Amino acid sequence: MTDPLDIASEVEEAHRAAALQVALANARRQLHDNASELCVMCEDPIPALRRAAIAGCRFCIDCQRRIETNPELRRRYA
Ligand SMILES: [Zn+2]
Repeated sequence: MTDPLDIASEVEEAHRAAALQVALANARRQLHDNASELCVMCEDPIPALRRAAIAGCRFCIDCQRRIETNPELRRRYA
């Protein structure tokens, strides 16, 4: 006969795993939703693939490169 505490433990574990999956999906969705369609710096459109690949993406590739190589821009847009 199966121990009721083992069953309760398995149910609790399953609920916890499901809750974590929902929280993770919500966090991913929120990061994706926060991605800008237009570059914050030059206002050019950011390609959908870039937005999908980089959660919370705010810059086009050219501006991202400029920011990463220019300390003044990094301070301004960090
Ligand atoms: Zn840009």
